[in-house]
Amino acid sequence: MKNEELLNIFKKTNALLDGHFLLTSGRHSNQYFQCAKVLQYPKYTTIICNIISEYFKGFEIDIVISPAIGGIVVGQEVARQLNKKFIFAERADKDLILRRGFEIKQGENILVCEDVVTTGGSVFEVMNIVKANGGNVIGVGMIVDRSNGKVNFGVPQVSTLQMEVISYLPEDCPMCKEGTPAVKPGSRKL
Ligand code: ZN
Repeated sequence: MKNEELLNIFKKTNALLDGHFLLTSGRHSNQYFQCAKVLQYPKYTTIICNIISEYFKGFEIDIVISPAIGGIVVGQEVARQLNKKFIFAERADKDLILRRGFEIKQGENILVCEDVVTTGGSVFEVMNIVKANGGNVIGVGMIVDRSNGKVNFGVPQVSTLQMEVISYLPEDCPMCKEGTPAVKPGSRKL
């Protein structure tokens, strides 16, 4: 799939919005991304996750794991396409842990999947769970790499879309200078 077709899917599902946005950090941006918007549609989830599945299909994999909640849909679909087991780690208090009887055995090969990676914090946490259980992290698949390739997990990694978050202090914001008001994503119909 061409990058342009993929971008089209993100745009027509309103996962990727162009405009003038007020981020929770207080900074302004001309783009806003909400991955869950595209993953509402199973047919697009299938198409997008296939990029990750194709990349890892030649790898020896026992389990696909994701951090909850955002990563679950992605990991489940990649596991389905690769016909592998799928588990997830969830947050209890502040740490991600395995619950529900999910297990990683010594020597098992694990693929980590996530929806959006900015600093990679949740993915690194899941990688640590895998290693603590004696498993091998064989790769990381993600829908969007918002670090624009800067996050390096030290294993083979693939993202379907790479983008850089460009944001401005309100006083330096070019959209503000043009006189358009900044909107808080989700606070009104876009
Ligand atoms: Zn602005």
